[in-house]
Amino acid sequence: MPDRHQHLTHLETHILAGLEPHTRGHVLQLLARVPGLTLTSGRRTLARNRDVGGSPRSWHLRGRAADLAGTRDQIRQGYRQAQTLRLGAGCTGPEELLDEGDHLHVAW
Ligand SMILES: [Zn+2]
Repeated sequence: MPDRHQHLTHLETHILAGLEPHTRGHVLQLLARVPGLTLTSGRRTLARNRDVGGSPRSWHLRGRAADLAGTRDQIRQGYRQAQTLRLGAGCTGPEELLDEGDHLHVAW
């Protein structure tokens, strides 16, 4: 898992930097567990959220949601992993977990 960082793209690194620390921890854990999943979206500005038709109460606005793309199999694996993975004591898991077909949306 430590050298997972070496495989992050520039875009993924940029997206990770905008996430809340707890959310970032979950995303890194998920990327390490499901090879092939790629991080495509994280924190959004109000304007960007409006442009993509996001909910006005979207977790993306708070830097607590991530979108991850992959094959159908990778997305299903990511869904299952996100359901069960926890980051230490007190972590209650995802606030929101949606299989959107071409990507996984998860909020922590
Ligand atoms: Zn958590």
